[in-house]
Amino acid sequence: MIISTDRQKRPNDFVFERARITGREHCPFCPGHEALTPPEIMSYRQNGGAPNTPGWDVRVVPNKFPALQVEGTLDREGEGMFDRMNGIGAHEVIIETPDHDRTLAAMSEPEIERLLSAYRDRMQDLKRDFRLRYILIFKNHGAAAGATLEHTHSQLIALPVVPDFVREEIDGARRHFAAKERCVFCDIVREDLRDGRRVVLENAEIVALAPYAPRFPFETWLLPKRHGSRFEEAPRHEYASLARTIKMVLHRIDRALEHPSYNLILHTSPFSEDTSEIYHWHLELMPKLTKVAGFEWGTGFYINPTSPEEAARVLRAVKL
Ligand SMILES: [Zn+2]
Ligand SMILES: [Zn+2]
Ligand SMILES: [Zn+2]
Repeated sequence: MIISTDRQKRPNDFVFERARITGREHCPFCPGHEALTPPEIMSYRQNGGAPNTPGWDVRVVPNKFPALQVEGTLDREGEGMFDRMNGIGAHEVIIETPDHDRTLAAMSEPEIERLLSAYRDRMQDLKRDFRLRYILIFKNHGAAAGATLEHTHSQLIALPVVPDFVREEIDGARRHFAAKERCVFCDIVREDLRDGRRVVLENAEIVALAPYAPRFPFETWLLPKRHGSRFEEAPRHEYASLARTIKMVLHRIDRALEHPSYNLILHTSPFSEDTSEIYHWHLELMPKLTKVAGFEWGTGFYINPTSPEEAARVLRAVKL
């Protein structure tokens, strides 16, 4: 749990927050409004221009209300039977395009590839901080998926611990490797391409598939066919193929499900350990179509009303 006292809220603040969506006039991510964000960490500027002025194509800034902060020391300590440490880490916002009305799905393939390069560049930079063990990059699209600003953006959170969900996936992959001496994700890619029923689309480098036991309807995983545990070390042509796949999958989902909110999450190796043989980076895309309620909170089980074979069939059949 991250207790974020910087974001301290009184009961009424929660009620207010729910209705808030910032429009273009006050959008801190629009060109010309650079002063509304903390100073930029990085930007790509094909046409030059000084930092924190218009002219950028992708812009990375610290989150104005960070869940974690870079300054300080972890100070791990016990408090009676409890364990605590300071909220050291990084929380950055990657503004994907200067165009307020563009969505990720509407961006061109080279623009999406540029965004993926920005992910890689930030990861390679933050990796040098020995206090950090994991970098999570994710995107919330639409209010139902948790986005509070409509201008399209991704978020990066660098953590001093490996998150439980990632830990579970890595431990499972390690057990599979111990038993079979094969990467479980390579096995999934091979098996699903042979079977075909859960494949949404594929190209030379990437396959998009509905996983065998998806938690959510139309949950889709994007995996490189070539084994690699670290997203930031993937070769450039994989980013190009991944950009094309992201765009095509989002188009199909938008068409089939009428532009749903969604979460897009990058799963990649922690940098604090060697997972080069056992882990395999990938993206998980979850359209927001069902509500997580008491049963899910109480058990960690999910009730999914759409089989992965049906979801993949529907997405394959979309006429673009
Ligand atoms: Zn904007
Ligand atoms: Zn693999
Ligand atoms: Zn995963």
